[in-house]
Amino acid sequence: MRPLLLAMTLCLGACAAKLPPQPAADPASLAWRDRVDWDAAGDEAVQMLAEYLRVDTINAPGNETRGARYLQQLLARDGIESELYGHAEGRDGLIARLEAEDSKERPLCLLSHIDVVPAETEAWPEQTGPLSGEIADGMLWGRGALDMKGLGIAELHAFVLLARLGVPLRRDVILIAVADEEIDNHGMQHLVDTRWDDLDCGHLINEGGFGVRDAIFDDQVLHAVSVGEKGVVWLDVVATGEPGHGSTPLGDSAIDRLRAATDAIDTRKAKPNWHPMMLQLLARAGEAGGGMTGFVMRRKGLVKTLARGTLKHNPVTWASVTTTVHLTGLDGAVSPNVLPGEVRATYDIRKQPGVSTEDVLDELRTLTKGIEGISFEVRHDLPAAVSPYEGDPFYDAIIAHTLEGREGHAAGPLLSIGFTDSVFARDRGTIAYGYAPFVIDGELLRTMHGHRERIPVSEVKEGSRRLFGMVVQGAADLSAPTDTPAPAPLVRPVPSALPAAPDLE
Ligand SMILES: [Zn+2]
Repeated sequence: MRPLLLAMTLCLGACAAKLPPQPAADPASLAWRDRVDWDAAGDEAVQMLAEYLRVDTINAPGNETRGARYLQQLLARDGIESELYGHAEGRDGLIARLEAEDSKERPLCLLSHIDVVPAETEAWPEQTGPLSGEIADGMLWGRGALDMKGLGIAELHAFVLLARLGVPLRRDVILIAVADEEIDNHGMQHLVDTRWDDLDCGHLINEGGFGVRDAIFDDQVLHAVSVGEKGVVWLDVVATGEPGHGSTPLGDSAIDRLRAATDAIDTRKAKPNWHPMMLQLLARAGEAGGGMTGFVMRRKGLVKTLARGTLKHNPVTWASVTTTVHLTGLDGAVSPNVLPGEVRATYDIRKQPGVSTEDVLDELRTLTKGIEGISFEVRHDLPAAVSPYEGDPFYDAIIAHTLEGREGHAAGPLLSIGFTDSVFARDRGTIAYGYAPFVIDGELLRTMHGHRERIPVSEVKEGSRRLFGMVVQGAADLSAPTDTPAPAPLVRPVPSALPAAPDLE
């Protein structure tokens, strides 16, 4: 019997993953959500984001205080006080809190970063440049539209709508925007070091996954909610040897040794680590998809044997199930006629949960055994971290409001291959999820940190509506009546972004 047929016969019924039904949205959260006039509120979200994209917070240098002041202005329209708080001059973030009358749980926190990465303006269309905030072809254009001013505005919008509607809360809701995510994470790190006891976030939503069209199945949108992030080790492999003159090849120089070491490390065979969350995400996609692929993906045993090749074919999916050791730099040249005494190779290593730095170093030591003059220097080390999600009420709220009323959508937990500011919060006992409630395709996904970043206008509106439902379910007193008169008008005019402040340059 051929292995494929054998595996399918053995797994036919027994290996099917037993998936509980996806959680349903709480009726009270839907009632609150549906009290909002989403035509008008959606336009408001688009305007707020357009103005925010025009605020230059490109990092370096960041100048996030400008962005924080803009957010502060938006909150002030609703009489909501906020505090600017930063780690350095011009690098402020913002904190605002809606208090529950009788708080029964630790706060729900809505986190975003204000800074954006630089853009090569000449690679963007002239009218829709990185700081334009212009709408063209149904898209809102600008650096940060996806990463991550879009989610930042959806969070702020959900926050002010709670206040405008007078939604009674069972826990505090805290809006947090920080500086410097894109380079050093100093904004979040400083906030966690100095204010986390006071903020005491029980849950946090931040950047991470999206709803991605055709991610695995054609015509299916797969919503990946990031519940954890791989660990990071930035490592230098250092080779030393006798220095000399370029005119005389010695045969056993530092460079020869480094080359031997990198060649040896290249022979490493990464083994997949089938974390339950990855299997669940694939099973959820398979459950909603159909055909042979769907059949395979609902069965753990088959995924491990048959889908391995497919996952390996795509560098991103393969990275999500393996510990990766990636050569990203070579350093040490002095001059063409000088043989250096020390050269180094830099590796970006991303660890699966349960894999320690020592495990990886052991593997590399074994691979490079016998090569003289080699040592390892760890420059940066963060463990992988995963938040609990099975049966978590806020995770369920995210899934429920993501799938509510939709056909052809699937949702499940994801281990992110990159890290975000969530890592610092998880380290302090906060359950952190990464999900922006926007549906995009692979092409748009690649515009993050790339050219021509943009977001569909329709998704800015729909994302705000969905996130508001999640936040209500995650923080409101759901036993309170939902038909009380709103204390404030439900939509307000949006102020223009602040002019560039030269004193912040
Ligand atoms: Zn980001």
